[in-house]
Amino acid sequence: MNRQRLLERFLRYVKIDTTAREDAEQYPSSPGQLELGRLLVEELQALGIEARQDRYGIVLATIPPTIDRPAPAIAFCAHLDTSPETSGEGVKPQVVEDYSGGDLVLPGDPGRVIRTAENPELDGLHGCTIITSDGTTLLGADDKAGVAVIMETAAWLSQHPEIRHGPLRICFTCDEEIGRGVDKLDPERIAAAACYTLDGQGGDTIDVETFSADLAVVTVAGVNIHPSIAKGRMTNALRVAADFLDRLPRDRLSPETTDGREGFLHPYEIGGGVAEVKLRIILRDFDTGRLAELAELLQRAAAASMAEFPGAKIRVDVRPQYRNMSEGLGREPRAVPYAQRALERLGRTAKLTIVRGGTDGSRLTELGLPTPNLANGQHTPHSPLEWACLEEMVQAAEWLVSLAEVWAEDQ
Ligand SMILES: [Zn+2]
Repeated sequence: MNRQRLLERFLRYVKIDTTAREDAEQYPSSPGQLELGRLLVEELQALGIEARQDRYGIVLATIPPTIDRPAPAIAFCAHLDTSPETSGEGVKPQVVEDYSGGDLVLPGDPGRVIRTAENPELDGLHGCTIITSDGTTLLGADDKAGVAVIMETAAWLSQHPEIRHGPLRICFTCDEEIGRGVDKLDPERIAAAACYTLDGQGGDTIDVETFSADLAVVTVAGVNIHPSIAKGRMTNALRVAADFLDRLPRDRLSPETTDGREGFLHPYEIGGGVAEVKLRIILRDFDTGRLAELAELLQRAAAASMAEFPGAKIRVDVRPQYRNMSEGLGREPRAVPYAQRALERLGRTAKLTIVRGGTDGSRLTELGLPTPNLANGQHTPHSPLEWACLEEMVQAAEWLVSLAEVWAEDQ
């Protein structure tokens, strides 16, 4: 793999601001995503690969097979946007070569320090090249490490026609970070037996499960009247909402008190006044059936609050967001074992992991395209303390080449 060229790609991509904008109505939500997509199409075309960007900014490309007999098509996918939680404007990447251990002080804001105590995986990366931001922005390795890994894989394959592989598709999506990554993407267009997102942390992991997720919008209707004549007539929706929230568990079933495979209810937004209050609550569990129990808990709290405030009406509307990827991965039993085999051939062992969240892959899998998530060298995403490891990115690109070979041997 061309290590230096991979690094240069990554540094080129992170300098384009592709922050997703939650309040934007257009798709994609920010012009930088279109700009990065255009650049990638140009770079792919320069490699002789057929690529185009659709009107939503999604980039699709195809690398034709190098073997004569039919083999299943597979796809590699990454997202162009970065998280709105930390600015992605004016990213100044810092490259630490031959990392020798210890904390990394970020030069643009010396108060920001990447500490080994909080990033124990740094201990295993002595001698590696570590990339950070200058501390005033995020780095954007989530998911430009994935973009750079896929692009370098494409460049490598185009220079090595002796590598035997079937049809390969490349897909770059927009607005994954605001939950719209697959809104404008019909998986039929990818036309592959399996897809792999390159959006996992660290090295050598395969995310094989995600949360199943619902969103509850709770509308509390009160009775508003001028406070001067409110006696016995007003029902204040703010007080009802506070009562309702107080009835939800806090010492269990909350993100603050759970980890591993435990699910939760998470109220994350509230707004309104005396007449009406709206609350948004996310429901999460690895077991999809448990989401109905979490919704039932909301209904019981609503009934109890309405009994307490007879003038109030509370409506709980629950809608599905995404489903545990493992449910759909079963439809393509080769997807995960082939990724494991591809890594074994490189002398490494895959760790199967679960994500307390969703990926583009959870939606794609649900829509019928099985899509596990592979590690790409990113660490501490969404934060000014984000960093990436070049060697792990190189290993991810080697993994993809090996994966293409494994699928080409499929009978
Ligand atoms: Zn990501």
